[in-house]
Amino acid sequence: MTQYLLSFDQGTTSSRAVVFDDKGGLIGIDQYEFQQHYPQSGWVEHDPEEIWQTTIKAARGALRKAGITASQVAVAGITNQRETTIIWDRNTGEAIYPAIVWQDRRTAAYCDQLKQQDSAIVERIQDKTGLLLDPYFSATKINWILDNVEGARRRAEDGELAFGTIDSYLLWRLTNGETHATDATNASRTMLFNIHQQVWDEELLAQFNVPAQLLPVVQDCSADYGVITADQLGQPIPIGGVIGDQQSALIGQGCIRPGMLKSTYGTGCFVIVNTGDQATASNNRLITTVGYRLNQKTVYALEGSIFMAGATIQWIRDGLKLISDAQESQHLAEQTGYQNPVYMVPAFAGLGAPYWDPHARGAILGLSRDTGIKEIVTAGLQAVCYQTEDLLTAIRSDGVAVEQLRVDGGMVVNEWLMQFLADLTGIEITRPMVTETTALGAALMAGIQAGVFDDLEDACQCWQLDRSFSPNIDSAERQTLVTGWKDAVGRVSVID
Ligand code: ADP
Repeated sequence: MTQYLLSFDQGTTSSRAVVFDDKGGLIGIDQYEFQQHYPQSGWVEHDPEEIWQTTIKAARGALRKAGITASQVAVAGITNQRETTIIWDRNTGEAIYPAIVWQDRRTAAYCDQLKQQDSAIVERIQDKTGLLLDPYFSATKINWILDNVEGARRRAEDGELAFGTIDSYLLWRLTNGETHATDATNASRTMLFNIHQQVWDEELLAQFNVPAQLLPVVQDCSADYGVITADQLGQPIPIGGVIGDQQSALIGQGCIRPGMLKSTYGTGCFVIVNTGDQATASNNRLITTVGYRLNQKTVYALEGSIFMAGATIQWIRDGLKLISDAQESQHLAEQTGYQNPVYMVPAFAGLGAPYWDPHARGAILGLSRDTGIKEIVTAGLQAVCYQTEDLLTAIRSDGVAVEQLRVDGGMVVNEWLMQFLADLTGIEITRPMVTETTALGAALMAGIQAGVFDDLEDACQCWQLDRSFSPNIDSAERQTLVTGWKDAVGRVSVID
């Protein structure tokens, strides 16, 4: 009899749920968008109640579309947008303030002030957490809520309140307040968790004024996370897996050996590489993070992100109106070819890793009288690949040998883009059959806990190849392309 796995995939713009069978086949999926709130410049909030309502609605929808009932689900897993911070009342379950989203910059001045007061703080944080001191991570968001919601700090110290990233909040709601937990991947994004010792770090808790009473228990990615109460989906379902979204995609892509990496090409692009039992410290402004933790054994990863990937194509389509559909970019690029004199640096919102230059702005270079639409569109696609190559160079120079890049996200249907990526990076690019890799990772983690799979190796047998792209240009041609890109980036950002 088929055993089904239910995955909650709670993202930044939508909540989705996916039902998989025990071979990793996608049986049913449902998804609901929810509102983004921008109360001030640089602030981004979500309504926790809306997150909860869309999540549970998506789960009901996914079961319905799969044509199964909750009683046929062996186990559920959760994957989620990371870092986003909620504090709620332990008695009522009600959030005391909206969720402060990872993108929110309200604590930027506070982070700057900390750096000025204590020049060693950046290094101390990197040593313990693998992270950069930045508003992105949860710690300063927690502190902000405790400082700005009346009575919150006292109530936190008295143990009346609970903190959680989205996974913890959903666990609390799904289990009707029975479970207050998180997993090691989500904990590793709070800037409060010592990734080497796998404990909440007392020194960091003191640094960011976070009372320990607020914090969830940190568990393996496959563990007993309690039971979804019967009133939610009709029957109780055990929860056996929790893992942050990028790490979940790493598992969904079967990247379980050191040197295997995945890159997700959606709005932005997230690259994450398995570094095994080594927590590799980056000299290139990559983030060191927990890749996953199973049987108390931590596997580490290095991570870098590109802010504008598919969003560049969206801008070419909706802003410049050079194309009417994203797929047209492929046809135009085929006409242009690789030796495109035009370079686009999509630093619309600064540059991410390895540059981390928030002040850089975009540019299109190499224009001449015969430049047309096709060269500009092609440059937009190529920029995504050049930035990936920058990340791979950073990863390599941090001492990690990369062997294969597995890709997913909306852009990977573009075959020209995939071939250019293989040619430029010089490594094999592989695209899986199931592209819902984020949801799949959490389902696999849950499946391991429930005994649906023997172990991680067995679970990752679910990964199936759709198509691979092999590098096919010589190194001189590759070098010319990369040199052109370096020159272009150098004109919008000073690289130190
Ligand atoms: P997200 O999950 O971040 O919302 P998706 O994974 O759904 O994003 O990917 C959508 C993005 O992919 C859009 O930004 C779109 O511009 C881009 N995209 C979709 N199809 C293509 C294509 N054929 N070529 C290039 N880009 C594409």
